[in-house]
Amino acid sequence: MTNPDAQEHARRSLRLSLLSTGLALLIAFVLLVAHQYITGRRLLLEELHTEAAIIGANSVATLVFGDEKAGREILGAIRLTPRILGAALYRADGQLLAREGEGGIDFPASLLTKAADTRQDSDGAATYNRFGLLGGVLREDIHSEGATVGTLLLRVDFASLYWRLLEYILGVIAIALIALALSHRFTSRLRMRVASTEEQLENLALYDQITGLANRRLFEQELRKAALRAQREPLGAALLFIDVDDFKKVNDSFGHEVGDQVLQMIAERLRSVVRAADTVARIGGDEFTAILFDIGDPENAAKVARDMIAAIAEPFPTQPTPSHVGLSIGLALMPADGSDPVTLLRRADMAMYVAKSQGKNRFHFFSESIDARVRGDLQLEADLRQALKHSDGGLWVAYQPQLCTLKKTLLGVEALARWRRDDGSAISPGEFIPVAEKSGLINELGSWMLLRICQDLAEMRAAGVEIPKVAVNVSPRQLTRGGGVVEDICRTLESYGEPVERFEFELTESTLMDEHGAVVLDAFRAAGFALAIDDFGTGYSSLGYLKRFQVSKLKIDQRFIRELPDNEDDAAIVSAVIKMAWALNIKVVAEGVETDAQATFLQAHGCDVLQGYLLGRPMPPEALVTYVRERWKNGG
Ligand code: C2E
Ligand code: MG
Ligand code: MG
Repeated sequence: MTNPDAQEHARRSLRLSLLSTGLALLIAFVLLVAHQYITGRRLLLEELHTEAAIIGANSVATLVFGDEKAGREILGAIRLTPRILGAALYRADGQLLAREGEGGIDFPASLLTKAADTRQDSDGAATYNRFGLLGGVLREDIHSEGATVGTLLLRVDFASLYWRLLEYILGVIAIALIALALSHRFTSRLRMRVASTEEQLENLALYDQITGLANRRLFEQELRKAALRAQREPLGAALLFIDVDDFKKVNDSFGHEVGDQVLQMIAERLRSVVRAADTVARIGGDEFTAILFDIGDPENAAKVARDMIAAIAEPFPTQPTPSHVGLSIGLALMPADGSDPVTLLRRADMAMYVAKSQGKNRFHFFSESIDARVRGDLQLEADLRQALKHSDGGLWVAYQPQLCTLKKTLLGVEALARWRRDDGSAISPGEFIPVAEKSGLINELGSWMLLRICQDLAEMRAAGVEIPKVAVNVSPRQLTRGGGVVEDICRTLESYGEPVERFEFELTESTLMDEHGAVVLDAFRAAGFALAIDDFGTGYSSLGYLKRFQVSKLKIDQRFIRELPDNEDDAAIVSAVIKMAWALNIKVVAEGVETDAQATFLQAHGCDVLQGYLLGRPMPPEALVTYVRERWKNGG
């Protein structure tokens, strides 16, 4: 999992830091030694001057009396001091009185007086009080009672200075080595810890923690490389955008722990159908991707997609076992469908949406027509946004009557959104509602609908028609706003003086199962609204939830009504639903009633309310007024 680039980078920075530390240590070492040399030399010279002064003071009498023997005895003391190689005493007139030292050391026979001495003796060989690297000659004039009585020359040697310096250098090196060894031990432990932390961080940054697959970041890096490679190599590559169908239901029904286990198993199964060199990544909650290299024939990519779907179809051995997990896969080919990662991902995503909209658990290749469709949706979204902003944007509300099965009285209407575009063409809600849901415009559309319904109710009232109940469709996406949506609705109704009892909200079964939806449903009930379950039988819901949210109506989906009474299965389902609803004290509405036979069947089985073309199509408010007047006239 470790990245070789990162390793090389770490090695290089380690080398660099060692080098710079070494250089800094060397500079410090040189400075220390230089400082030691300078102070050592200064101290040595001070000591020598002190010694010369002592010898000089002891020699005053000797010089005054010109006693050569005594002079030699005094000078003999220098034998105890190895840094003084030789010494000579001169009388005040500059003549040598006595000297001491090893045989080879010579002193001039006479000295010039200090005033005449231009720092060089008569031979011009030695310089007094000027010292070279190895030593030199120290000159000390000896005074007594204010007069110069003689001169002392000491030939001095600096060897002791260098011995001391050597000792110092060895000491410093020894200390430095010990310090280095200790710090190496310490830092190597630290480095190991840093390396393992870095690896953990890299893991967090590049790998998904639940499945261990590459995450979005690593996937994007890999996709960039794959797109470049696919341009150079003849076999090309494929990008798969994989969405787990209805994964939310697994989480909602079985909890996140089971959800995570299922994700791990999905990841394992996806990995098992691709080659080792291919990449599988998890880039979102229930979204995976795969990059298949050297794919050759697109059919090979299709085969992998098919294998993935088959692998996920196998039951998951979790407790409890989710039954409805499938995959919708979109495929984009490299380089045919694009060479930049953003386009490729968008196109594979588009293809996945098509697979999903065609019934899920299938795959679809990207094509230009898909692109056109998605572009069309984007245009639709932009137009809808405009339409919502203007009062004459072409949006209006159609009302479809809901009649009592027995008495055929008008119990209420369902409000359905309608949209006529500028060019006069009508777009069906089946087309624009999903676009509004995907783009979030459904919230604005919901608010617009309610306002318009209130206005229409007022107009119909003015025309003498009071509509007892209005059913309004609510999309699950609207509930993600939380309780605020109910507050908005109440405010609108209040401003138009409409009672809450006149309104019923139609929700789909999945909303009942959604934990976020639950809070909003409670808010609807608390505000006094009636709740109806739309398209009942097409989703998953539990009877417990119907009771929990005090649902007042079930609307049996038209697909169960369509083939009544001949289709035995549908007949059995419809009669069972009616019986069950009765037992729970919930009213039943049949949707899409088109024939007398259907109406007769539903009446015979105790269905409470009928809605469908047989009883009235969705119509504008003016038409509804006429419709109601007609029925009154007929005594309905
Ligand atoms: P729905 O709520 O199930 O509405 C019933 C649909 O069945 C309506 O389709 C209606 O025109 C149609 N219908 C009614 N009687 C018959 C019949 O006898 N035969 C047939 N074949 N169809 C019948 P519509 O108006 O096209 O609406 C489709 C869906 O769009 C609605 O299904 C609803 O889910 C959604 N929708 C409509 N208006 C709104 C809205 O304002 N907000 C939201 N969120 N969704 C809406
Ligand atoms: Mg409805
Ligand atoms: Mg319906």
